This record gives sequence, C-alpha cells and structure tokens, in this order.
Amino acid sequence: MKIGFVGLGNMGGPMAANLAKAGHEVAGFDVAGITIEGVNSVASLADAAKDAQVVITMLPNGAILRGVADELIPVMAKGAVLCDCSTVDVESARAVANLCASHGLESLDAPVSGGIGGAQAGTLTFMAGGSAKAFAAMTPLLDIMGKKTVHCGDAGAGQAAKICNNMILGATMIATCEAFALADKIGLDRRKLYDVVSTSSGSSWSMNAYTPAPGVGVPSPADNDYKPGFAAELMLKDLRLSQQAARSVDADTPMGQLALGLYAQFVENEDGLGKDFSAMLPRFASKSRE
Ligand code: NAD
Repeated sequence: MKIGFVGLGNMGGPMAANLAKAGHEVAGFDVAGITIEGVNSVASLADAAKDAQVVITMLPNGAILRGVADELIPVMAKGAVLCDCSTVDVESARAVANLCASHGLESLDAPVSGGIGGAQAGTLTFMAGGSAKAFAAMTPLLDIMGKKTVHCGDAGAGQAAKICNNMILGATMIATCEAFALADKIGLDRRKLYDVVSTSSGSSWSMNAYTPAPGVGVPSPADNDYKPGFAAELMLKDLRLSQQAARSVDADTPMGQLALGLYAQFVENEDGLGKDFSAMLPRFASKSRE
C-alpha cells in the first residue's frame, strides 16, 4: 500500500518503520526533519498525502492535528483514509472526521495504548472510532503496528475510550504508589506488598504489569531510574483531556479531577517533568502527611 505518515516522533517513527518493514511504501513527513530507516522522507505534507491510499498522523495535540488535516485533506485522493493515531480531544477528532466526509474521504481516530516500547515492538493497542468501512480498510495496517484493535464506535469513540482508560490508569497508578509509600512507613516490605496485592483485589495493571517500585515485580521504568516509558507530562495531558470531556458532557469524575491535580503539581511545581508517570512513588515516599 502507499502510505503517508505525518509525525515521526517517539511513537510515529517506530510505527512508520514497522509499516515499511512489512513491505509498504511509506512517505514520511515531520516538521523537525526526522528521517526513519526504510521510510521515504518527503519535503511537505502535500507530498506525503498525494497518491497515498492511507495517511496516518501521529501528532502532539488536537490543535496541531486540525492544522495538519486542513492541509492534507484537500490533497488526498477521493476514497483514501485519514487515520489519526494521536491522543487528542474528542471534539477535534470529530471535526477532522466531518471535514474528511465533506471531501469524500474516509477517516478513523485510532489512538494507542502501549507507549514507546509498544510502538517499537509493534504491540500497541488501538481504540478506533469511525465507519465500518474505514475500520476494515485500516485493520491490516493497525495489525502490523499493534497486537489488538477495538472498533469502539463512530468518530470520536476511539479518543473517548483512550481518555477513559487513561483516567483509570492515572488514578490506579497514584493509588498503587500511595500504598507502597504507606507500606514503607508502616514497615511492610515492598516485595511482600507486591506478592499480596498482585494476586488480590487491589491488583491492577499499574501493580502487576508496570510495578512502580524498583526491583519489585516485573521489570519497569522504576528499574531504569524512572526514565519514561510513559512520561508524567503525557499522563497530565490525558487527564486534562478527560476532564475537558467530562466538563463538556457534565459528568461527575472526582477521582479523575484529583489525579489531574496531583500530576499537575508533580509536573509543574515539583521534579516530575521528564520522568515516568510511575515516579509518583518516590514523590509520595519523600513526603509527609500535610
Ligand atoms: P513526539 O513529540 O515525540 O512526536 C510528535 C511529532 O510530531 C514530532 O516529531 C513533531 O516534530 C511532529 N510534528 C509536530 N507538528 C507537526 C506538523 N505540523 N507537521 C508534521 N509533523 C509535526 O510525541 P510522541 O510521544 O510520538 O506522541 C505522539 C502522540 O501519541 C501524542 O498525541 C501522544 O499523546 C500520543 N501517545 C504517546 C505515548 C508515548 O508514550 N509517547 C503513548 C500513547 C500515546
């Protein structure tokens, strides 16, 4: 297939590389001039879009996505698919889908879970929103970049699933880190806490698959000095998106709001910027009750 790929950063770069490795013809564009082995670097958005059957975007936020989509969409061939894999607000995802429809294009919002490791290994989970036709067209490509794809509903449903998932993740990571810090102060060994909780009702992905304590449980960013992984500022971004969505539909999400406040404090006023989101554990461990 002829694929245009826009945004070759931490996530987009390895995703584009995996498509090229699978034998697809990938034209890649990034404003930062990033080049990826196996991907043909092109000089503009238009060059990435023209002749492509599919254009994939992996960009920082909804405002950038909207600007890029405004330039890509008029150049794309009728019937082609624009698939955005970035994490953006539901409103931007729907606006881009409407613009695609008005130009005779298919579209899919397909944000990912799995982080940089998942992008490199081709083991991402995709949560997709859009028509059955767009989903069917994209599935073979998503299967190369990921291990699981769920069609969540119409345009915006992929982004909705992503922010709900990450609102749970933010809250459970904080709860898990709090519990480790409390165990330390009570005098309970971290390994014993892990042994109990990972097989009990307090278990979660945060405890079992991403254990935030160094040397305990599975290997995770905690064992690598909390280098991300999934950066605390990206968790903050996703929690902001979840609260933006909650406000827009008048949903009561107090745990999400509290998690947002804690990550904002950690990233903006403490030393959380650039650390993995599981570095909440040393943060709690260093604090006393206020
Ligand atoms: P990144 O900043 O590494 O990559 C984004 C890339 O987009 C950059 O290389 C930038 O130069 C490029 N870009 C910006 N504006 C552009 C434009 N107008 N035209 C072309 N290229 C442009 O970010 P990332 O970590 O790869 O994340 C990308 C998206 O994936 C974000 O929406 C993020 O929330 C989401 N995400 C990231 C992770 C993660 O662990 N990094 C996990 C899940 C989801």
